[in-house]
Amino acid sequence: MNLVLFGPPGAGKGTQSEFLQAKFGLVKLATGDMLRAAVSSGSPLGRQVQDIMAKGHLVSDIIMINLLQQRIRLPDARRGFILDGFPRTLAQAEALDRMLEDEAMRLDAVIELKVDDAKLIERIAGRFSCAKCGAGYHDSFRQPKMAGICDVCGSKEFIRREDDKAETVAQRLQAYHKKTAPSLPYYKRRGVLVSVDGMADIDEVAHQIEEVLRANKKIAKKG
Ligand code: ADP
Ligand code: ADP
Ligand code: ZN
Repeated sequence: MNLVLFGPPGAGKGTQSEFLQAKFGLVKLATGDMLRAAVSSGSPLGRQVQDIMAKGHLVSDIIMINLLQQRIRLPDARRGFILDGFPRTLAQAEALDRMLEDEAMRLDAVIELKVDDAKLIERIAGRFSCAKCGAGYHDSFRQPKMAGICDVCGSKEFIRREDDKAETVAQRLQAYHKKTAPSLPYYKRRGVLVSVDGMADIDEVAHQIEEVLRANKKIAKKG
């Protein structure tokens, strides 16, 4: 099963893909995570994208398409994947189709998480994650079970993203509405788009996504 989780910054793509990864054994391919890893390693790619990301702009299609193509060719992607943060432009959506065709793979569903801007701002403002394993949390909506200790790995170190500050968030939302949302009609025409109410709480959204997958009858039971 190959999925795209589509939606604006803060919609819950990362949170829901963590669940899908754990529950169905899908591989999470998050382009934002890949870019942040490149930035913190100081690689040539990281140096190239650092300022663009800090400003809340989109990295160029050429860079992103190359990056994803290299990743999707690795053997583990054959187990089924969840794309989080890609595609973000129509050019990326079209390139994704071409690369899947080349690899004899296909998209089963594009799941759109619909959330309004006011709620996105609230979510992003309270977002933090484990510095060691990347598990995602929120100051109000998803606190660790024991304060200050990661549920997943027990680490006591947490980080907040540099681009989650208010000035940059406005720019990122604008990029979403202008450049990313226009891919929705493309997927709608292809009959793979399913929209889910992302305003609901985390468990309810997870439940809705599972219903979608079940309805698709493509659910791959794990274990
Ligand atoms: P969020 O989950 O908040 O939407 P991401 O982690 O997906 O944010 O992305 C962080 C930043 O990385 C983006 O603001 C953008 O600069 C860059 N980025 C990630 N994926 C892409 C992509 N597919 N195309 C262009 N830029 C991207
Ligand atoms: P994205 O990957 O789409 O940018 P995240 O999954 O990182 O979004 O979620 C943004 C923030 O909102 C995180 O702090 C997360 O814990 C929280 N969050 C995610 N989904 C929900 C939800 N349905 N209700 C409340 N908070 C949520
Ligand atoms: Zn952790």
